[in-house]
Amino acid sequence: MPSIRTSHSEDTVSMTYPPLPEPLVVGVYDNHTHLDSALWVPEGESELLDYREALDKASSVGVRGVVQVGTDVASSRWSAEMASREPRMLAAVAIHPNDVPALEAEGTLDDALAEIDELASRPRVRAVGETGLDYFRTDDAGKPAQMRAFEAHIEIAKKHGLALQIHDRDAHADVIATLLRVGAPERTVFHCFSGDVEMAQLCAEQGWYLSFAGTITFKNAPVLREALVATPRDRILVETDSPYLTPTPHRGQTNASYMIPHTLRLMADTLGTSESILAAQIASNTELVYGSWNDEPVFVDAAADLPPHALA
Ligand SMILES: [Zn+2]
Repeated sequence: MPSIRTSHSEDTVSMTYPPLPEPLVVGVYDNHTHLDSALWVPEGESELLDYREALDKASSVGVRGVVQVGTDVASSRWSAEMASREPRMLAAVAIHPNDVPALEAEGTLDDALAEIDELASRPRVRAVGETGLDYFRTDDAGKPAQMRAFEAHIEIAKKHGLALQIHDRDAHADVIATLLRVGAPERTVFHCFSGDVEMAQLCAEQGWYLSFAGTITFKNAPVLREALVATPRDRILVETDSPYLTPTPHRGQTNASYMIPHTLRLMADTLGTSESILAAQIASNTELVYGSWNDEPVFVDAAADLPPHALA
C-alpha cells in the first residue's frame, strides 16, 4: 500500500472511499482539508482522489467550498497557486508543527517561514495554518523550535490580516497561554477541536472559533459532543481534515470533503436542531472567518494546464 504524507496524523489511510452520503439541503464549507495529499505519492501509485474529482464529489452533496491547507513550503505553494485557479478553493499556508524540528535542525526554518510570509500575501490565501503545538508527536527537544515557529505564524497572520488555523495536539494549556501572551489574530480557529467543555467556554470567551471534525462522531468522544453543546452557535465550524479522520459509520476508510454531511448531521442531532439550520449558521460563520469564496478573481482556464503535481 502506498504511504502518504502523514506528518500531522498517525492514522493510516486505507485508500478505499465510502459511498456518497445523502446531499445537504443547505450547503456548508469544509474549512480544513488536504486535497493535495494524493500529489505526493509517486506517480501512478496513489489511489487518492484527484483534487478535481474530490471537489466535484463535494459539490454534489452540498459542500460549497473548501479551505485547502498547506503543511510545508511545497504544499503551501500548491495551495496558494490552486486557490487562485479554482473557485471552490481558498488557501491556508504554514509549516506544520511536526515538520518544524527537522527544519530547525537543518537550519532552514527561517527561510521556510519567510516563504510562508510571502505566500500569505497572495490572493485567495485567507489563513495561516495549520500551525500550533503538537506534544503527541514531537518530543521535548523539538518544543522550543515549535514554539518559535508558532509565534512566527501568529505574527504572519496578524501582519496580513488573515485567520489563524491552530493544530493543538495534547498541548491545550501552552497553545492557549501562547495566544494570550502574544495576542491572537482577530479570527482564530482551533482546527479539529479536541478540548473539553471548560476549554470550549474559554475559547468562546476569547471569541475564538471551534472547528469540529469527524472525531466528534466517534463513539468514544462524548467529551467532544459536550464541548459542542457548550459552544455558542456563532463560533462553530465544521471540517474533514481529509484524507484523515473519517467520520462514523465509515471509520477506517479514506476521508474526503464529501463526507461533511455525516459530521454535520451528528452535530445537529447533538444540538437538537435541524441540519439545515445548523448548516446555514456554519456557512455564515465560515464566511465571517475566511471571507467569501467569490470576492477575488480566479483564472479557471489555467487549471487545465497545471500539472497535478507539486510546484516545488
Ligand atoms: Zn490537517
